[in-house]
Amino acid sequence: MLQQTPIKNPVLDVNTFRRSLRKWYRKHKRDLPWRRTEDPYRIWISEIMLQQTRVAAVIPYYERFLALFPNASALALAPEQELLAAWAGLGYYSRARNLQKAARAIVELPRFPKDYAALRQLPGVGDYTAAAVASIAFGAPHAVLDGNVLRVLSRIVAEPGDTKSQIVRARLRALAETLLDRKRPGEFNQALMELGATVCLPKQPLCGNCPVRQHCQARQQGVENQLPLNGQRPRSNRGEQHLLVIEKAGKLLLWQRPPDSRRLAGFWELPEREQIPGAIVSGEVVEFRHIIVNTTYLVRVCRASAGSRPSGFHWLAKGNLGNVPLSTIAKKALILLARITK
Ligand code: SF4
Repeated sequence: MLQQTPIKNPVLDVNTFRRSLRKWYRKHKRDLPWRRTEDPYRIWISEIMLQQTRVAAVIPYYERFLALFPNASALALAPEQELLAAWAGLGYYSRARNLQKAARAIVELPRFPKDYAALRQLPGVGDYTAAAVASIAFGAPHAVLDGNVLRVLSRIVAEPGDTKSQIVRARLRALAETLLDRKRPGEFNQALMELGATVCLPKQPLCGNCPVRQHCQARQQGVENQLPLNGQRPRSNRGEQHLLVIEKAGKLLLWQRPPDSRRLAGFWELPEREQIPGAIVSGEVVEFRHIIVNTTYLVRVCRASAGSRPSGFHWLAKGNLGNVPLSTIAKKALILLARITK
């Protein structure tokens, strides 16, 4: 248990901290596609994609997405199915829909919104994204506070409280604002996030390589591996799903989620067994685990046949499935099935 001590950091000299971080970032930053542009549209797209998705996974999506929708007008006009197909696999699809809503708002404006308050008005843009785009694209002095920054700062000051608490977050936000280099806010924010992503790792931080280790209270107290404190919700729920793969003449039976579906609206799914009670199931072929929010599902996939097309279902040509948004669970099932039938 960590001692509950107030935040004080006698070794935190703000100017030296900024200088050391800047020097390290310029030498060690990863060469990422969104760091090669000053276009606010591209920076905004990258920030939305990077929410809840790892950098390595985002890069190919980012490049493909921008080739298809190179500016806000193209995104505003994109057919929904094309947009969702370009996003399929990144998850959290409300991000794609909000991007399009925001693009439609942007094209009504004389130019891309520049300041934090205007950015914050766009659908899907929260405090973090508004601060990131305002600082990186326009040099506005707003500190960002994402998971990486929270971790680094809570270690720098050996924060004893739970980072899920609003009070602790407010304290760390104030620290981020104090440390922010107001002459180069975009570079500073990216440097702090980069430090969290590549050196100040969640487990076993690489303190020997850290440019700000002389400022770090957690390291001095030997508690870097115990911080930050954050109450995690356990993934305790379990469930089962039975999916059917029903094929006929090179076509696959699927259903599409309605536009008002709470999850994955507009996405195509394999039928669940209960949806087609008359289906003749010829045996289980694969199974895998799939997590949706807090529930881990054991998904069992069976081949089956159905007489006539059940209402609400559609035959889609198998060769055409790449052009429609398929849910991740359906994709996983079909990939595994293809592997074992090769
Ligand atoms: Fe993180 Fe270690 Fe650097 Fe402290 S010294 S900020 S714990 S990497």
